[in-house]
Amino acid sequence: MTLHEELRDQIRSLCARYPSEYWGRLDRERAYPEAFVDELTAGGYTACLVPEEYGGPGLGMAEAALILEEINRSGGNAAACHAQMYTMGTLLRHGSPEQKRRWLPAIASGELRLQAFAVTEPNAGSDTTSISTFAERRGDRYVVNGQKVFISRVQHSDLMVLLARTTPRDQVTKRTGGLSVFIVDLREAGDALRVRPLDTMINHETNEVFFEGLEIPMENRIGEEGAGFGYILSGMNAERLLLASESIGDARFFIERSTHYAGERVVFDRPIGENQGVQFPIARAWMHTQAAAAVRDQAVSRYDRGEPCGPEANMSKYLASEAAWEAANVAMDTFGGYGMAEEFGIERKFREARLYLVAPVANNLVLSFVAQHVLGLPRSF
Ligand SMILES: Cc1cc2nc3c(=O)[nH]c(=O)nc-3n(C[C@H](O)[C@H](O)[C@H](O)COP(=O)(O)OP(=O)(O)OC[C@H]3O[C@@H](n4cnc5c(N)ncnc54)[C@H](O)[C@@H]3O)c2cc1C
Repeated sequence: MTLHEELRDQIRSLCARYPSEYWGRLDRERAYPEAFVDELTAGGYTACLVPEEYGGPGLGMAEAALILEEINRSGGNAAACHAQMYTMGTLLRHGSPEQKRRWLPAIASGELRLQAFAVTEPNAGSDTTSISTFAERRGDRYVVNGQKVFISRVQHSDLMVLLARTTPRDQVTKRTGGLSVFIVDLREAGDALRVRPLDTMINHETNEVFFEGLEIPMENRIGEEGAGFGYILSGMNAERLLLASESIGDARFFIERSTHYAGERVVFDRPIGENQGVQFPIARAWMHTQAAAAVRDQAVSRYDRGEPCGPEANMSKYLASEAAWEAANVAMDTFGGYGMAEEFGIERKFREARLYLVAPVANNLVLSFVAQHVLGLPRSF
């Protein structure tokens, strides 16, 4: 058995212990999948990308992608814990040796959860360089004031990576300058950090976060002051590839369930799958999924070889989220009225698959990236 076959088997048997009823119940209760995340962590899977010298298995993006794809393919939702895999990348690539020794082994063992990542702000949206949350340097610390929105898993995390402004926007020469990255210890934040949960159409713990004089010790700043935008950007390829893999898992889930249902459901004395009006959309969604997976695989190989993969990672995210959304709609059509029934699990996955058209980057922004940076079209913003 190859490493990948073995890994796939392990994840499949782990996920089999968390069937659709488990995820459906959590969805109704808007509860966090503690048992699932604990088991995934105990198995070392969320530490997959942490190098061996810091206590992780030191696997690559190919293995991380496989793990998340299989979770979503099984009917689960990896979004509850996916950030534990990649958020530490900012620390790994740009942290000091001391910072890495301090946090990475505990992240690898699961003792510390670093799965909150605070970038988005209400008044900046997709235009990250317009963020205004400000970290003012005072002696040996920074004092943070401002607001973030849609910050996921804050209530299930010990640490949070924060992107904040350290130089006012009108004083920087490049619009990507003047931003810095910090590790916030959420356990010590007290009243200086207020968290207001946001209700959304899916079971995804996400929040508004208000900073009111939050003190961060100097030793928690990652890398150089003012260079934070580049550090965040360097982690985005990993995020795009991993979330694309979840979308591919979603698409496969919908296609497999639709194929099975269309073969079993008999209407007008024959399986509905005999009708080309039912078959063709499933076949089309499958082809689009295979194409997205091929681009994702190519991007993952480039990433694991240490080659630039910005365009490929962005394209993977776009193609995979579109393929998943197409397959989600096909499944709703194939299941007819039962697609709406909670017990079939299709409507829950349908809602969950919708997220990746807009997060972590809206698909229009990917189109604009490809237009400008791959095709050389004029910059539009
Ligand atoms: C459930 C959930 C979880 C999230 N978790 C996190 C998290 O943990 N951390 C975090 O930092 N963020 C998180 N986000 C935020 C997410 O990354 C943003 O929602 C996303 O980047 C889009 O920003 P926005 O919602 O402000 O949309 P906007 O930027 O306001 O865009 C709105 C629409 O306008 C379009 N648009 C905007 N500008 C242009 C343009 N120039 N050309 C064409 N179209 C344009 C966009 O494509 C989009 O469709 C999360 C969001 C959700 C919904």
